[in-house]
Amino acid sequence: MTIPDSARPSDFIRDIITEDLKAGKNSGRVHTRFPPEPNGYLHIGHAKSICLNFGIAKEFNGLCNLRFDDTNPAKEEVEYVESIKEDVRWLGFDWGDRMYYASDYFGKMYQYAVQLIMAGKAYVCDLNADELRQYRGTLTSRGKESPYRNRSVEENLDLFGSMRAGEFPDGSHTLRAKIDMSSGNINMRDPVMYRILHAEHHRTGGEWCIYPMYDYAHCISDSLEGITHSICTLEFEDHRPLYDWFLEELNIYHPQQIEFARLNLNYTVMSKRKFLQLVEGGHVNGWDDPRMPTISGLRRRGYTPESIRNFCERIGVAKRDSVVDIALLEYCIREDLNKTAPRVMAVLRPLKVIIVNYPEDQTEELDAINNPEDPGMGIRKVPFSRELYIERDDFREDPPKQFFRLAPGREVRLRYAYYVTCVNVIKDEKTGEAVELHCTYDPATRGGDYPDRRKVKATLHWVSAAHATGAEVRLYEHLLLKEDPDDIEEGKDFKSNINPGSLEILTSCKVEPFLKDAKPGSRYQFERMGYFCADPDSSSGKPVFNRTVTLRDTWAKIEKGQKK
Ligand code: ATP
Ligand code: MG
Repeated sequence: MTIPDSARPSDFIRDIITEDLKAGKNSGRVHTRFPPEPNGYLHIGHAKSICLNFGIAKEFNGLCNLRFDDTNPAKEEVEYVESIKEDVRWLGFDWGDRMYYASDYFGKMYQYAVQLIMAGKAYVCDLNADELRQYRGTLTSRGKESPYRNRSVEENLDLFGSMRAGEFPDGSHTLRAKIDMSSGNINMRDPVMYRILHAEHHRTGGEWCIYPMYDYAHCISDSLEGITHSICTLEFEDHRPLYDWFLEELNIYHPQQIEFARLNLNYTVMSKRKFLQLVEGGHVNGWDDPRMPTISGLRRRGYTPESIRNFCERIGVAKRDSVVDIALLEYCIREDLNKTAPRVMAVLRPLKVIIVNYPEDQTEELDAINNPEDPGMGIRKVPFSRELYIERDDFREDPPKQFFRLAPGREVRLRYAYYVTCVNVIKDEKTGEAVELHCTYDPATRGGDYPDRRKVKATLHWVSAAHATGAEVRLYEHLLLKEDPDDIEEGKDFKSNINPGSLEILTSCKVEPFLKDAKPGSRYQFERMGYFCADPDSSSGKPVFNRTVTLRDTWAKIEKGQKK
């Protein structure tokens, strides 16, 4: 059930904002931002942040900016920017005319840096990366002051100007904030504000050869955009004193940083850096591979924006890290598709059935219900004829006790059609495998009714052999075998947990004829098999379907278990 806005349970961030509004802070404004670094495609964790930032803006009548945090020239690409915009839009959010880049503020950031130098709050340091690390100290040992810490303002201005003018090589100098080398918080030990990088930037080209560090750039970007609540994940909690320090020393508008717990999912890695390894290593077929937890992967898999928003609402917002069961995500898409996806019959592993007492040249059109959950979706006609396909798994020559489906001599119902009884099994001479079943049908049971109240224990789906469309179906399992993908042997990495059976491709599936031209992105319930979504690889007459999720509801089971 989607919780309507008015009934949405609050969380600590919404409580803070409500209090701020009551106190008249920010003249009643609420302004958030979503600040992705364009170094990869967005994932379901980002969806949590998007729903939170854009959701809050909507609920409090405020605004939310989309800001590309593009301070690192080496890693960022236009492809990523475009994919991020598409994903945010697809999730149902709109930044209006407020799309910004941190790089838009490089000029301003430079001026502010000069201001800090003039106030004696920043200095140019000649220590190299290794030395910087050594001087910084550790959690248990203090840092050591740089020998360059007490340069004069004039000298610092001159050197910083030379850094900017490209007179120094990469890594030879940095601009550092002059704070406190003995601070218990390592982030406050004279953090680097600018480094030299002679690199082309995707937007500013060769204009700059010094680039600001995240902590310096982020607070200034927030300030310049008039952000009221700068919401970020917990790893930035220790950076907050630095966020506050820069804004206070610069004496500019000061947003409030609030941290929340990032989304972690079991069986899932959640980092663009790791995705890049999967993509570049050929472990998946691109960023939008349906096994990827990227938004584009989930979309291709068949997830709807509603289901993802609903998932984000259910997991809530907390201050403590936790791991969410991926079964909850699956529950959310199942719940959505149950209401909206038309039912169709599709045979994934076909076994030929011949109805020996059915006229050879006859075809009937039988009524099938499109969605029992929604009568408004109407009915469709399904062709029935003498030769059919059923699911290979629905027949056993030697049925075990609990197996109620088709077997020699046994009668079952064909959905929307007739009762049929298996009278003969044709087998492959070599393997002994059933290759064709001969059945009789009872014309009095048309539509699947039982006029004499004769009961059968199973109803099978089927397609007419002459009418069905051939299809490819891709079945997915978890990409990673372990609940905690980082549970690994020494010397290995998460890739050693890749599931070799995460993708199974079935190429001789048979589906109802109207699916011949299934539009990529269209979603269906294949009766008894799961929810499926037509893939962009489909071509006319040769549809390809991804299994979004099976029908088996593991989450309901888990929930039941939890209640007990
Ligand atoms: P990654 O490790 O995947 O690269 P990131 O934090 O570096 O993640 P950014 O592009 O910098 O990615 O993140 C943009 C916004 O999304 C940030 O505000 C970040 O806090 C938030 N975010 C990233 N990952 C998650 C997550 N798993 N759950 C919730 N929010 C997240
Ligand atoms: Mg990042």
